Amino acid sequence: MNAIASFLTGFGATVLGLLVFVSYRFFEVQSLFENYLPLDGSIRQVASYLVAFVVVFSLLIFSANLDKFKLNRFADSGAWIKWVLFLFTLVINAYFWRLWEGDSQVGNPKLTIFFKAVIVIFFAIFDYAYNHLFVSSWMDKQALSKAFTSLSQLQAKENELQARVSKLSASLSELIAREDPKVCPRCGKTFDNSNQRNGHLRSCQSTFKNSNNEL
Ligand SMILES: [Zn+2]
Repeated sequence: MNAIASFLTGFGATVLGLLVFVSYRFFEVQSLFENYLPLDGSIRQVASYLVAFVVVFSLLIFSANLDKFKLNRFADSGAWIKWVLFLFTLVINAYFWRLWEGDSQVGNPKLTIFFKAVIVIFFAIFDYAYNHLFVSSWMDKQALSKAFTSLSQLQAKENELQARVSKLSASLSELIAREDPKVCPRCGKTFDNSNQRNGHLRSCQSTFKNSNNEL
């Protein structure tokens, strides 16, 4: 159940919804151009498919790149192009559904016009909502990946700093030990006298290799 919920609220579902909606738009635009193109015969049908493809593909590209239509940095990302697409959808739907024609066979002609008006307006709102969702989900996704990148950069920096701290403390203990002739500068062991310490130093295996000038 959680998997379904996270799919439905995720970026994948938004893209899928947008694509499904665009296929409906293709059918709609194609049938409109088949009626309205000023061409004759079979060329009109071929042209209607071509024009519908151009329109729908352009709409898809516009939807996917809404944030690039930003007019200035204070404006809502691509708000104006979302409204342009909304108006386009409104007009296309109004013609597709023949909004001005009431159907007396279905019932009251005025009520059928009302129903068509609701459909036309809602489909245009769907279009606006999909575009809005697409852009905001995409931006969330990018912000998340940016946050992850800076987190791993910070972690790398932290590791580097910790390595420097341990190098420094090693050098510090070596320095302290050098001050005292009874202490081994390598392992930090204390001896009764400097002769014992010097004897041990020849065979001391632990080495603080890091001296100050290496840091
Ligand atoms: Zn030692």
